[in-house]
Amino acid sequence: MPDRERVYRTEAVVLRHSDFGEADRLLTVYTPYMGKLRLLAKGVRKPTSRKAGHLESFTRTQLLIARGRNLDIITQAEIIEPYVALRQDLWRLSHAYYVAELVDRFSEEQSENHPLYRLLCDVLGWICDSSDLALTMRFFELHMLSLVGYRPQLFDCPRCNARLEPVTNFFSAEAGGALCPRCGEGERGARAISLGALKVLRYLQTHEYAECAHLQLRKATHSELEEVLQNYLVHILERRLKSVEFLDILRRGGLTSSDV
Ligand SMILES: [Zn+2]
Repeated sequence: MPDRERVYRTEAVVLRHSDFGEADRLLTVYTPYMGKLRLLAKGVRKPTSRKAGHLESFTRTQLLIARGRNLDIITQAEIIEPYVALRQDLWRLSHAYYVAELVDRFSEEQSENHPLYRLLCDVLGWICDSSDLALTMRFFELHMLSLVGYRPQLFDCPRCNARLEPVTNFFSAEAGGALCPRCGEGERGARAISLGALKVLRYLQTHEYAECAHLQLRKATHSELEEVLQNYLVHILERRLKSVEFLDILRRGGLTSSDV
């Protein structure tokens, strides 16, 4: 009795693709129930390919996939949502690239995260018609961080657990959130965060997108929010990358979990 079906069906968002062999493409997609997958799309770079248009980056598409020895192979693809508006504008498109890269780097292969899939579909739609893409990105970053286990702590100091007062506090990527002035002063790498910026972060973190989309932020607040979150994201990614590198070193050395 076969233990696995030879073909399976899933919808997916295409995160990125790269050329593979003569006419094939290697795709990284994100799915609702299997997380991230790497798939082979054969012959899609031939001008006659009917699948190609259904497998562009940042499209939501329905896939029929055959299990392969190394890589699973896309045998059919049909677009569900093309997110046309983000393709007609380079500025919007570059934000879709950014979102796809974050989802790619914060997710694991074959690890289900259905809320993250929903957020990904939602944010691609928001990018199509957002009037403040920076605000849309900050909302996405905060909610993605919550869904992948890195929700920054914004109400209580992560070092002393004191409730944060309405004053200028600090933010520390290392500590995982906003620090009270007393803890923040002595913390290496902590930076001051204005009360205004902290309030916006809290609001974005705890509200639905529809409630946040109308916020009007000053340019200085925008810059501060971007700096705080970029710093936090880079800090986590570097830590994650180091752990991946370490695993690779173990693998190259022929060590597996049974040896450790
Ligand atoms: Zn503290």
